Amino acid sequence: MAKIIDGKKISAEIKEELKVKVKEYKEKGIDITLAVIQVGNDPASSVYVNNKKKACEFIGIRSLAYELDENISEKELLDIIEELNNREDVNGILVQLPLPEHINEDKVIEAISPLKDVDGFHPMSVGALSIGKKGFVSCTPAGIIELLKRSDIDIAGKECVVIGRSNIVGKPMAMLLLRENGTVTVAHSRTKDLMEVAKRADILVVAIGKPKFINADYVKEGAVVIDVGIHRNENNKLCGDVDYDSVVDKVSAITPVPGGVGPMTIAMLMSNCVSSVGLVKE
Ligand code: NAD
Repeated sequence: MAKIIDGKKISAEIKEELKVKVKEYKEKGIDITLAVIQVGNDPASSVYVNNKKKACEFIGIRSLAYELDENISEKELLDIIEELNNREDVNGILVQLPLPEHINEDKVIEAISPLKDVDGFHPMSVGALSIGKKGFVSCTPAGIIELLKRSDIDIAGKECVVIGRSNIVGKPMAMLLLRENGTVTVAHSRTKDLMEVAKRADILVVAIGKPKFINADYVKEGAVVIDVGIHRNENNKLCGDVDYDSVVDKVSAITPVPGGVGPMTIAMLMSNCVSSVGLVKE
């Protein structure tokens, strides 16, 4: 029987632990503030932003909401970020992506101070991760490491295959698994014989962005499967990049969708906000 890795439960535990830490900071007179910037009112972005605000409220982090008109100029947005970079009372800055087409996302990401880059997208944060220095780590892959550790799944020495090489998930995931001493392979859209590569994995992380793409033929008996994908099917039900029903009897552990990786992303964002305290105030 496969172990079902319960991201809802683990993320709730992390948020409880963070709540305690935030309370301790408050008692020392230290408040934590996250600035959340949304440009325009894309419904999916609004849901994500609202969930982040709710998580802040639960943990005791103050959130500053910037709901900006979708026609705001790039310069105006960069000026707001600059102002937030300079504010001592702001610990973290998050700009909800995607941004409207007239705004250069890279420029915006690079404008955020690496000391407040709680999403971990700044090139300095990415560079720090790749050379093993301290810095913020992208929340979804950081959450996956936490899921593995808290489920007592060893990474050291394991064959780890990451399918997908995006800057937000696949690449930082590979770096983190390497940091944990896994033997890491990154597969992507140009990989030859994906099935053979995927079948090597003791730990298979799937971030392809294609519903139910990975079935039992791609999975080694007894592997651990982490499904990053989120999709809504024709019946409005959520599913992942992995065909759960097809693989569940073959694996030793698996994350469900929903309730696996998804809830961990916000928990790790909150964790990044809490760990930003030392950087700004001490
Ligand atoms: P992306 O589209 O940026 O990247 C997809 C990657 O998959 C690419 O690197 C591509 O090379 C690879 N790929 C595409 N087709 C492939 C194929 N046929 N064979 C092998 N590789 C292939 O996606 P992303 O931003 O990394 O997100 C991946 C999925 O994870 C999406 O479903 C997204 O919604 C989801 N996601 C979830 C969370 C969360 O919090 N749970 C966070 C981020 C992304």
